[in-house]
Amino acid sequence: MRYPVSDVPQGYTAGLTQSFSESPEGLGFTDDGIQIEGNVTGQLKLWRDGAIVTIQAEISANIVLQCCRCLALVMTSVHPVVTLRCFPETATTSDIHETGEVSPVDDMYTYAGMHLDIRPIIREQVVLAVPPYSYCRQDCQGLCVVCGQNLNGTQCGCSAIQPDARFIALQHVKQTLG
Ligand SMILES: [Zn+2]
Ligand SMILES: [Zn+2]
Repeated sequence: MRYPVSDVPQGYTAGLTQSFSESPEGLGFTDDGIQIEGNVTGQLKLWRDGAIVTIQAEISANIVLQCCRCLALVMTSVHPVVTLRCFPETATTSDIHETGEVSPVDDMYTYAGMHLDIRPIIREQVVLAVPPYSYCRQDCQGLCVVCGQNLNGTQCGCSAIQPDARFIALQHVKQTLG
């Protein structure tokens, strides 16, 4: 996952195709709070145009998330398919702008020195693919706001004691109108 840039073939047709399977630790997923289950896998195609490297990546990762209603753990798969362009640190903004206009890409990166390390790039693309909200099921009932009981399949009875304030207001309006 770390290449001398000179080893990346020139031109799309000659491009290097390879599959990968990397452990979350190997990709650096140790300290950013994302729990990955199993290896991150996928396919890469790399080629370059001078010092500018383009990567087409199809990535698959299984991520453990919390249901945003009931906090149960949920396994989610993400499959980002992205085209990325990597410029040497010394590239000027006009180099980047011109190349970007020829063929649009999803993200741009820079690399330092003569080597391109794809691991942090893969990690970032997985992070970007994490859905902002996840649910254990479509109709998750969440937790009771009064007692904290998980309401999926179990009723705690709090709703009978404390009716929804909105319904009380609605009843009041009805009475006023009547
Ligand atoms: Zn849930
Ligand atoms: Zn309750």
